[in-house]
Amino acid sequence: MAKIKKKIKSIRIDADKCNGCRGCEIICSAYHSNPRYSSNNPARSRIQIITNRLENKWLPVFAGEYAPAECMGRDKYVIDGKEYSECDFCRAVCPSRDLFKEPDSGLPLKCDMCEGEERPLCVQWCLNDVLIYEEREEEVEEAVRMDDMEIGLTAIVDRFGLDKVMDAVARMSRKD
Ligand code: SF4
Ligand code: SF4
Repeated sequence: MAKIKKKIKSIRIDADKCNGCRGCEIICSAYHSNPRYSSNNPARSRIQIITNRLENKWLPVFAGEYAPAECMGRDKYVIDGKEYSECDFCRAVCPSRDLFKEPDSGLPLKCDMCEGEERPLCVQWCLNDVLIYEEREEEVEEAVRMDDMEIGLTAIVDRFGLDKVMDAVARMSRKD
């Protein structure tokens, strides 16, 4: 398989500094509203703060890949005296929880690193330096990548079944 140079973008999380202000959720949902900045609803954000106020726990997690089935792992981790479940760190849009699903349609949300912006908006808005943006170049094998449209279609088919989706497409194609 051919090798290509790829810019790898990542956001390092210094979770100890997070105070749960949720500014990152607000700007992410506003940036991705349509038209841009027309509304903000943290439930539509592609970053979510996993919160347990009693334990003073604030853990930023970014929306990752769509997963049609839930996994078997449910390990627990204790870090600095705070207990975390495996799901707390998981980025998957999975059937076992409501995280990273568009509230009206249930379609999966995914962090796109604010494609087109010089630096991700959540990084710019975090005043506590919790989110640290990093870039590096790597040589990788060119792979066929599932694009956002395909991920969305897979989620719709999982939810409504292929027959109903095909019927809807046939009906739509008959309209002018
Ligand atoms: S903006 Fe920064 S401090 Fe505020 S919730 Fe997000 S990651 Fe935490
Ligand atoms: S990088 Fe952009 S898309 Fe990803 S969580 Fe931050 S604001 Fe949202």
